[in-house]
Amino acid sequence: MISGHNKGTAPEDHDHSTCVSDALADAETYCRKRGLRLTSTRRRVLEIIWRGHEPVKAYDILDELNRAGRRAAPPTVYRALDFLMGASLVHRIDSLNAFVGCPLAAGEHTAQLLVCSQCETVTEIDDPAIRVVLDRGAARHGFRLQPQTVEVRGICPRCRRSLP
Ligand SMILES: [Zn+2]
Ligand SMILES: [Zn+2]
Ligand SMILES: [Zn+2]
Repeated sequence: MISGHNKGTAPEDHDHSTCVSDALADAETYCRKRGLRLTSTRRRVLEIIWRGHEPVKAYDILDELNRAGRRAAPPTVYRALDFLMGASLVHRIDSLNAFVGCPLAAGEHTAQLLVCSQCETVTEIDDPAIRVVLDRGAARHGFRLQPQTVEVRGICPRCRRSLP
């Protein structure tokens, strides 16, 4: 089950400006509910990550941030990323050492990410059954799961279409 934005992640498949405005609205809501502030740096980092559905590296975020005349240092970017990840507004893809925006507005959650091995586009699925199975398996070993990212590799529809 693909939830959230069930419209494919290729830019030509949908109106991406909606993804961006939805993400910013989700972030505002998250912060308001908790009495937190979506600082301009947090907001800008979120916008940069949402420039597309491809994962973005931390140094690309830093470059982009400083292109607008700022002098942000790496710790500034990492603090903003920590905040956004803690809010599950952004997920880190460990295998790519990169970040992607979350389309689910689901509060803190374990992300289930499909990562295309060819183009590295990421699609998030939100299947409660996966979480239940993981929780149950972990509990059997007395293991309590933390919010995290589950990465699954495969070939996305667009790359499958271009396969011979
Ligand atoms: Zn989009
Ligand atoms: Zn998510
Ligand atoms: Zn692909």
